[in-house]
Amino acid sequence: MRQTKYFLKTSKTVSEDEPTVNGRLLEQAGFVSKLMAGVYTYLPLGLRVLNNISKIVREEMNAVGASELLMPMLHPKEIWQTTGGWDNIDVLFKINSRTEKEYALGQSEEEVVTPLVLSRVQSYKDLPLAVYQIGWKFRDELRAKSGLLRGREFLMKDMYSFHVSQEDFDRFYAEAKQAYFKIFTRLGLTAKATEASGGSFSQKISYEFMVLTDAGEDDILYCETCDYCVNVEITELKSGASCPKSCGGLLTQGRASEVGNVFDLGQKYGKDFGLGFTDVGGNKQYPVMGCYGIGISRLMGVIAETMNDPKGILWPENVAPFKVHLIALPGKDAENVFSASDKLYAELIESGVEVLYDDRADTSAGEKFADSDLIGIPHRVIISQKTLADASVEHKKRNEDKSSLVSLDQVRQIL
Ligand code: ATP
Ligand code: MG
Repeated sequence: MRQTKYFLKTSKTVSEDEPTVNGRLLEQAGFVSKLMAGVYTYLPLGLRVLNNISKIVREEMNAVGASELLMPMLHPKEIWQTTGGWDNIDVLFKINSRTEKEYALGQSEEEVVTPLVLSRVQSYKDLPLAVYQIGWKFRDELRAKSGLLRGREFLMKDMYSFHVSQEDFDRFYAEAKQAYFKIFTRLGLTAKATEASGGSFSQKISYEFMVLTDAGEDDILYCETCDYCVNVEITELKSGASCPKSCGGLLTQGRASEVGNVFDLGQKYGKDFGLGFTDVGGNKQYPVMGCYGIGISRLMGVIAETMNDPKGILWPENVAPFKVHLIALPGKDAENVFSASDKLYAELIESGVEVLYDDRADTSAGEKFADSDLIGIPHRVIISQKTLADASVEHKKRNEDKSSLVSLDQVRQIL
């Protein structure tokens, strides 16, 4: 993308009412624009990041055998009454229609997915099944002051699985948990899985996947030695205590953000809708269900929140909006610099490298570097009169201080 044509504008000023680092950095660097608390436009750069995160999540969900679909966000009141959510879920947005009907905006989709799937399942032979979507969710959150970490409208991956037995559920649940760890690792994050009680509808075990950050809203205790981790809300344990896994380690307390979770829903939803399947013996059974969430837009916030320096964001390569920021410094030799830069730009695109090309003619080098640091693309390639004298470009990684001269012939090999 050529910056002269791209819808991208960075800003030097920091919005006063944005208390978190991710909210400030993402606005300043031109990734998002806040419409109101907890509601954002994802600008072209930000949308690319959301899509990159979604792609990784999608690949790992497909790998556990789940089928992607897309469910509606506007729901009839009746399905939420069937499960009790209409009266019990405080974050549910309710909408009055001029027809006097009422609707809900999806805050999660068990109410849609259960009848959808079970009306197409007849016998135990049709199970197990897992479906997922990546879609917008709406929640009437009281405090939406954490940038992308807590939206009133946010992007979530939600998967739902259906099983003939608890054993089969447990098998899939373990696979899904491993897929989650893979996802967070691919995103460059270290996530810890806490064991937690399963929220308002289920007393079954659930896991919350936590990433340490001061902008998070959960307090966790985690072992320095093994992978034990627990939410402070539910535990009697205290910071400094010995790890209950007897590994010899001690527990440390930290602030964290929940980037995903997996729940055992038991048979609640099948029972609520009176929908099940016929088992081997010909009897009607309700499936054991699981639900598995990942906060896609929250992840974007957590990455910006935890991977930055005083100059801006440091995107991991898998997530970055572009791989390379090509910067032309025209100086007194604009014609040659732009012609060499245009050529390299075309070659990189041709070989499938995603490039943002700062082809602005009237912007100072200092301003271009400041913008580039703020935006945080992993590789920077500079072409100037000076580098051209050596038939080279200057290459620098965003997370390193040193730069090196690379000959124009070889630049494609290092990117
Ligand atoms: P929290 O405790 O943070 O409110 P939750 O337990 O309500 O989260 P779920 O309903 O399980 O979350 O949603 C699945 C995932 O969606 C969460 O793990 C989180 O990553 C993300 N998420 C939940 N609420 C929000 C929100 N308001 N804004 C952005 N992401 C969210
Ligand atoms: Mg919540």
